[in-house]
Amino acid sequence: MLRKEKPNTHAKPTDFDFLKVIGKGSFGKVLLAKRKCDGTFYAVKVLHKKTILKKKEQNHIMAERNVLLKNVKHPFLVGLHYSFQTSEKLYFVLDYVNGGELFFHLQRERCFREPRARFYAAEVASAIGYLHSLNIIYRDLKPENILLDCQGHIVLTDFGLCKEGMEQEETTSTFCGTPEYLAPEVLKKQPYDRTVDWWCLGAVLYEMLFGLPPFYSRDVSQMYDNILHKPLQIQGTKTVAACDILQGLLHKDQKRRLGAKTDFLEIKSHVFFSPINWDDLYHKRITPPFNPNVAGPADLRHFDPEFTQEAISASITRTPDLAASSSSASDAFLGFSYAPTEEDI
Ligand code: AMP
Repeated sequence: MLRKEKPNTHAKPTDFDFLKVIGKGSFGKVLLAKRKCDGTFYAVKVLHKKTILKKKEQNHIMAERNVLLKNVKHPFLVGLHYSFQTSEKLYFVLDYVNGGELFFHLQRERCFREPRARFYAAEVASAIGYLHSLNIIYRDLKPENILLDCQGHIVLTDFGLCKEGMEQEETTSTFCGTPEYLAPEVLKKQPYDRTVDWWCLGAVLYEMLFGLPPFYSRDVSQMYDNILHKPLQIQGTKTVAACDILQGLLHKDQKRRLGAKTDFLEIKSHVFFSPINWDDLYHKRITPPFNPNVAGPADLRHFDPEFTQEAISASITRTPDLAASSSSASDAFLGFSYAPTEEDI
């Protein structure tokens, strides 16, 4: 559902108490913040305009805002409440999700049994299928973007798509992030379509079941080579259904990949997901297989102390004079800010 957009000139950093740093992305930080007027907790993503402009990424940031705006109502996509800017920074006010990154839990347990992996893969697939129905390719499905909420349901964050832009930079010949989840066609810099997301779902499912991404090697160029050329190897005692869906999702030829014909419908009806009632899943009527057991919003046990112990920079919390901003910086982000809806006020 597209929200009604009104320019948001009233919201400002000093509306919030910024409590902790809880994560870092390519352009800035994510902070736990409490809104002063009503005590509501939010995750506020703060991006530096200069860094974005330097990397010529403003279109992708606006794309992130647009995607977030359109998708606030899906159960497994993070909700954006509103956004605002100062002369130096952009602020996204998001649902605060504090069950921890899915892969933080996976690292602790090494791998998940099939029913648990199936549940998470199904919730991720449901979110991806929804985005595809809006003609949006997520493209950047990877462990850091998959969070658990306080009950243990999946929440996908980060619609930055920033890697897309970075890949186009002529000066870099390699990818800036971890390449484990990149589909062969993306690695080859060939045009890609929505099946790229089904490849990534396969990579995430594989890692949940085996504890390491498919085609993994500590040597990055070897890993590229494996992704492009090595046949998928499935070891151990997995069910035929699990092996089959992994082979289908991780098909190197995008035209023959599971999902290439009828997209999410094909994924949904694969035998691996036969225990899932998709209607119950969407309505969160399936009890998650793991409860993160958070005591409340202030419970930060699932966040990396490397972030939460970091001091919060004063430049994030103050409200500078927008009139003092350089006009090119403000022009580049015209229309970024939009007002909260009534339910958010
Ligand atoms: P991003 O820049 O969106 O990739 O976010 C960087 C990191 O911040 C993520 O990997 C998460 O660990 C954390 N994070 C992002 N969004 C949220 C959120 N809404 N609630 C809690 N943590 C978040």
